[in-house]
Amino acid sequence: MLVIVVVLSAGAFLLTSWLVSAKEAEIAETQTQNAATLAELDQEIEEIKARKAEEERLRKLEEAKKTAAAVIANPQKSSTIDASTCNVSGTHNDPSQIDVLVNKKHCVQPLSYAPTDLVTAYGATLSAKAITQFKKMYEAAQAAGQGFSVTSSYRSYSTQVSTYNYWVGVSGAAGADTYSARPGYSEHQTGFVIDVANASGSCALDCFGTTSQYQWMQKNAAKYGFIQRYYKGYDDITGYTAEEWHYRYVGADVAQDMKTKGVKTLEQYWGLPGGKY
Ligand SMILES: [Zn+2]
Repeated sequence: MLVIVVVLSAGAFLLTSWLVSAKEAEIAETQTQNAATLAELDQEIEEIKARKAEEERLRKLEEAKKTAAAVIANPQKSSTIDASTCNVSGTHNDPSQIDVLVNKKHCVQPLSYAPTDLVTAYGATLSAKAITQFKKMYEAAQAAGQGFSVTSSYRSYSTQVSTYNYWVGVSGAAGADTYSARPGYSEHQTGFVIDVANASGSCALDCFGTTSQYQWMQKNAAKYGFIQRYYKGYDDITGYTAEEWHYRYVGADVAQDMKTKGVKTLEQYWGLPGGKY
């Protein structure tokens, strides 16, 4: 009798233990599955967020394109630009001449001006008036082991309309004005400007100022008629913070003379106003 009781008790104990560990295993498995499901959901949420952001970006771009198309169709009706007052200078106001001044107080006139003598060489599209000296400078830099690349040169009015409106969509007009020129106010529209980077293009914009190519440009660009247009500390005069990568062709006479006299801006050299819009 006792034996039977002991056997039955032991049997019941073993059964209970087995049931408990089976339950534990089941719980553990459920927990693992739950964790995996949560991770999947997290990933899905991230994907949805990314998709939404991309949709929003595309929507803004689409809006900017529409605005741009409307402005291009009728430039004089642009809300931000009054062509009759954007450049009242009697001098340095012909965008086809290398002595033109373009800044936030002096737009290109007419606003939709495009050079008729554009030529492309070494990745730069420039006015024929600037291309010969640009080519010489490019080749001299290469020969000195300080070759650079061109990241931007001539930009059309319509390109600037799209670019500017895109940034207005992103940051609002006040925000966009701090870093993107309004259409008709970009020096790039004259065909006298290049933005440069190191040879591979990997070190552009602010990075370019740290390179040996930048040092070479500082020493030699004037010989070829190019000047760094926006130096540090002249924001109030030029309307722009420093741009070590942006070079403007003004001809060797002016560039060398500015260098000799230590004049850093065209506004000061020609005695014309600049600064904010
Ligand atoms: Zn530039």
